[in-house]
Amino acid sequence: MLTSFIHPKNLSQKLMRVIFSIYLGVSALVTGIQFFTEYAKTQDSIQSELVQLEQTVRDPIATSLWQYNQKQLDSLVAGLLKMPIIVGVDILDKNAKVLVSSRSYSDGAAPLSLFATETELSWQLNGSQIRLGTLKLYSSSEVVLDRVLFGFALIAITAIIKLSVLFFLFIWALDRFLARPLKELMSQVDEVQLGDRGRERINLSVVEENEISKLQSHMNKMLCSMENGRKKLLQDEQGKRAWLEDAVAKRTEELQVLNDKLRELAAYDSLTGALNRGNFFETARHLLAQPQSQKSAASFILMDLDYFKFINDTYGHFVGDQVLVHFTRAVQAHLRKGDLLGRLGGEEFAVFLPDLGIEEAVALADRLRQSIGEARLVIDGQSITYTVSLGVSSSGYGDKSVEELFKLADVKLYGAKEKGRDRVEM
Ligand code: GH3
Ligand code: MG
Ligand code: MG
Repeated sequence: MLTSFIHPKNLSQKLMRVIFSIYLGVSALVTGIQFFTEYAKTQDSIQSELVQLEQTVRDPIATSLWQYNQKQLDSLVAGLLKMPIIVGVDILDKNAKVLVSSRSYSDGAAPLSLFATETELSWQLNGSQIRLGTLKLYSSSEVVLDRVLFGFALIAITAIIKLSVLFFLFIWALDRFLARPLKELMSQVDEVQLGDRGRERINLSVVEENEISKLQSHMNKMLCSMENGRKKLLQDEQGKRAWLEDAVAKRTEELQVLNDKLRELAAYDSLTGALNRGNFFETARHLLAQPQSQKSAASFILMDLDYFKFINDTYGHFVGDQVLVHFTRAVQAHLRKGDLLGRLGGEEFAVFLPDLGIEEAVALADRLRQSIGEARLVIDGQSITYTVSLGVSSSGYGDKSVEELFKLADVKLYGAKEKGRDRVEM
């Protein structure tokens, strides 16, 4: 408690130090004044006692002087010195010459200060006064202090009691009304945490209306507006997130559509809609690898339009393209659901026929050749006919790969061209 008084750490301790320093100073001053007043009063009363004593002993001393009775004089002086308030007696003759000078203390133990009263000594003779000398009675500061001390001790004790009671009352009041509510406020402020968990409001146990309760309500207002701001931010953020998720979902969908389109574009020939070379071979390989394909035959027809360069040269490229489209549709019309039609490049096409033996494949190839040969196309008012050469290959029970079938069919196709075109070779 004393160290916190000397080195105050908080507001209430500082307040206590200031107030107590002032109170202590004022108390010391008041007590000092009281003491000096008491001292002066006591000195006055001792002085008047000395005067009274002088009145009492004046006549016997004058008698002794008149009668030159030294023995009586000495015993009178000794009697005076025994009185507690008298520390010294001087008797002087009428020429101020010392006749008797007696002290109750030794020379080495002289009091701090002396004060004296004096009175005339005289003898009445035939109606006239004869002056004999002067009587001086001395008293000292020690005598005054002896008397004052008790009163002063009372004053000091009362002052100390008052000071102690006030000190503890003050500590209690500061602690009860300032330190404790402030400490509670601080610890609650430390615990404040906006959001679902933790303390959101400050709720002090002190209920009376004062600066601290006002501070609490101001802080709660601030916390409330902070919480509202936080909730609004959270809502905004959630709104933004929802919007973002929506936008991402939409964009993903669009990307999916684009992806499908790209895959289609990559898988199919853009002019004819037939499978492109890569996709055709990959799908054919996949179909051939199926367990059921291993147990049955599969066939491959390679087709190349005859004199296609001539068609291009005669009717133009646009017509050539239309012929390619016509060819694709015509072939497609003859195929089953699981058959594959691919454009291998330029005017070269291939058909992969799973589960179809060589005879049926040749028959189909011939039907294709015939149907193309009989077709009459009218494009831009021009009647066009064309033919196709076909090479057929077949595998029994999965003994050939798609590449081997293709190579075989290519040889056959070459043969068909050699033999005059518009033919099926197997
Ligand atoms: P053959 O009977 O020996 O097959 O003779 P051909 O003229 O058909 O063969 P060639 O390889 O000499 O000519 C093929 C032509 O096909 C050459 C090329 O300009 C043409 N061609 C390739 N792709 C296309 C296409 O997509 N559209 C058009 N219009 N012509 C194409
Ligand atoms: Mg060709
Ligand atoms: Mg050709």
